Amino acid sequence: GRVLGVLGGGQLGRMFTHAAQRQGYRVHCWGQDRDEPAVRAADAATVAPFGDETARERFAAAVDAVTVEFENVPAATLRKLAGFTPALPVRPGPDVLAVAQDRRREKAAAAAAGFATAPWREVSTEQQATAAPTIARPAILKTARDGYDGKGQVRLGEGDDLRAAWESLGRVPCVLEGRVEFALELSAIAARWPDGRTRVHGPFENDHANGILDLTLYPARVDPVVTAEARRVAAGMAAALGAVGLLTVEMFLTDDGDLVVNELAPRPHNSGHVTIEACGVSQFDQQVRVTAGLPPGDPSPRSAGAMANLLGDLWEQGEPDWAGMLAAFPDVSLHLYGKDDPKPGRKMGHLTATAGDPETAARRVLAARERLRGATR
Ligand code: ATP
Ligand code: MG
Ligand code: MG
Repeated sequence: GRVLGVLGGGQLGRMFTHAAQRQGYRVHCWGQDRDEPAVRAADAATVAPFGDETARERFAAAVDAVTVEFENVPAATLRKLAGFTPALPVRPGPDVLAVAQDRRREKAAAAAAGFATAPWREVSTEQQATAAPTIARPAILKTARDGYDGKGQVRLGEGDDLRAAWESLGRVPCVLEGRVEFALELSAIAARWPDGRTRVHGPFENDHANGILDLTLYPARVDPVVTAEARRVAAGMAAALGAVGLLTVEMFLTDDGDLVVNELAPRPHNSGHVTIEACGVSQFDQQVRVTAGLPPGDPSPRSAGAMANLLGDLWEQGEPDWAGMLAAFPDVSLHLYGKDDPKPGRKMGHLTATAGDPETAARRVLAARERLRGATR
């Protein structure tokens, strides 16, 4: 079995593809457009809607194992791939995907596994949108499905009308959650094998700007008790869901040192990009291993590191001066996803630096990014 199938054509699939190719696999990507980053990087591609049955049959026949880089693939498509004969390992499986696609199920799963979430309630009907308030403000109304990079969210202060907010989101199923006063945001990426063996990358310390990940420091600057607890939450969630494959858990760390589960992603994660340079086995290498049926890799860091995202905003004055930046910062790694149409807020690439400690690495990537913005020319 030397062909790995990946559903989704984005940058996560592209970096998975590069890791798989380096380990001697071919990758067949099922994407939505010829120009998607992973479709272009893969050895072979299917370009069709995920519901397309002919495409599914052809994809299934062409691959030896399946993974995803995007959680909003219909669970039914994964279920049918998992039921293909001869048996096709599908990692993560359809049930894990179905949980991670819906914030209501995510929060229920976290609670069932014994982990805290923000206080929340469902707002899916007119009645629920006008019911007496039970969640203290400030709060956030989020669509239950399909949100990413802070899209599909409305922040609600003391006087704001819940019903108006729900209408502005299109009257779709939503969750209203209380805002968590966090000290830090963390993430950890569990990789779980069919026999239950689990390895965790992280925790990562994440800074968001406008609802989009901006900067990751690794390892997170938290005490060893919190580090161990964050890993325990990630591994515990993966075990509770019976996940096989990668499962990222995003968390809030409160001032009291408690961890609160924010959301799940059944795939590699933007915060884990720093593992490409900082670890011997990256999150993408681990995804290849668990998908292909290889043994677990060691997720421990070789050095500290930091990652800064490059969003489309950086292209406002035209193509950034890559050569100038790389000349000034020869130790910084540049990753570009090969996307042709920069738009504000769109993830176009990232910068990574490694160092003896995460602050030093963060200073390097931030200075390099400032140089790209032209601020220090
Ligand atoms: P992603 O791109 O990670 O999938 P998303 O659109 O699904 O993001 P969330 O992760 O739910 O959105 O929220 C985005 C960010 O907004 C969080 O990382 C956090 O900074 C902030 N946020 C979300 N929910 C809360 C909350 N209950 N309390 C405080 N901050 C929150
Ligand atoms: Mg999300
Ligand atoms: Mg998130």
